[in-house]
Amino acid sequence: MILQLENINKHYLQDKLEVPVLKNITFEVEAGEYVAIMGPSGSGKSTLMNILGCLDLPSSGSYHLNGLDVSKLNDAQLSDLRLKEIGFVFQSFQLLSRQSALENVELPLTYAGVSKQERRQRATLALERVGLGERLHFKPTQLSGGQKQRVAIARAMVNNPSILLADEPTGALDSKSGAQIMSLFKKLNEEGVTIVMITHDRAIADQAQRKIEILDGEIVYHPERGGVDR
Ligand code: ADP
Ligand code: MG
Repeated sequence: MILQLENINKHYLQDKLEVPVLKNITFEVEAGEYVAIMGPSGSGKSTLMNILGCLDLPSSGSYHLNGLDVSKLNDAQLSDLRLKEIGFVFQSFQLLSRQSALENVELPLTYAGVSKQERRQRATLALERVGLGERLHFKPTQLSGGQKQRVAIARAMVNNPSILLADEPTGALDSKSGAQIMSLFKKLNEEGVTIVMITHDRAIADQAQRKIEILDGEIVYHPERGGVDR
């Protein structure tokens, strides 16, 4: 099991009142799965993604990543976990605009203290894996949206994380580039990568192996379909 969430609740304080955003979220993701978390805008998807990615802690409930209880880790252990076990992909790519594709992908390896030569080698391989072997030295401004997102995916994958977390990865792309990103995710998953993708778009969610729907911070069950849509 890669992820285990049990009765996760999250609230924000607004004028000293607790505003609930996630309510009793319970689910698991096994190694090798490709899961979509689907829900409309404001349903709590990004809040959940931040918890899954150990960028934020739940108000209550338990979250285990690779069997580790995340709430028991200190800040240093949490950043180590984020660096080594989690790959992030965002709607807006989040690339450094002055750096080449290669330098962007090398970044997590630099943080992890990997030597220059090995960084080059691994970043090159990661970019080849996403089909950008010919664009190593291009800056983000010289790349299309879909290519920028592939650089971001190479960067997320370069440390061989346990899980790839993607928050609306096609949200900023035209439908053709979006479809290319979806086929890349399918290929990576077939190669064994565990993926949790967040989207408001049912057609995008349908391309994952399994869907979890959330509405107003709660998982929507489909009893007629045997519980969570599987
Ligand atoms: P989604 O990604 O599904 O659009 P979010 O997780 O971004 O939803 O937000 C869910 C709800 O939580 C929204 O009502 C939003 O206004 C609220 N929210 C998110 N982050 C914060 C915050 N830091 N403080 C207060 N409210 C927040
Ligand atoms: Mg969001």
